[in-house]
Amino acid sequence: MHEMSYVARLCDLAAKTAKSEGMAKVTAIHADIGQMTGIVPFYMQKYFKTAAKNTILSEAELVIGIIPVTALCNTCKTEYTPDAEHDYLCPACKSGDCKIIKGREFLLTKVKGECEE
Ligand SMILES: [Zn+2]
Repeated sequence: MHEMSYVARLCDLAAKTAKSEGMAKVTAIHADIGQMTGIVPFYMQKYFKTAAKNTILSEAELVIGIIPVTALCNTCKTEYTPDAEHDYLCPACKSGDCKIIKGREFLLTKVKGECEE
């Protein structure tokens, strides 16, 4: 389960962001996760509850956005979503020579919270 280390990183970053913005408590954290990371949102949510306990994040909701895998064909420059049905080949020219341009992301996109009065 590599989700645990991702959650730890996410919490660390979110807590730092919250502190630098003078928040007293965090109400929501938004993260964008690429499909290629293999991260399972269910486990992210599960570990998040444990990791957030007794921290500034304890009442925060974790909102996960999934970024689908996008490949760029090196032969005809078509951008496409690789799928097993087409053996992950380019749908335009059937080439297998491509590079993955999206889907490996792991980003903290937003930290919402309440500021101290
Ligand atoms: Zn192509």
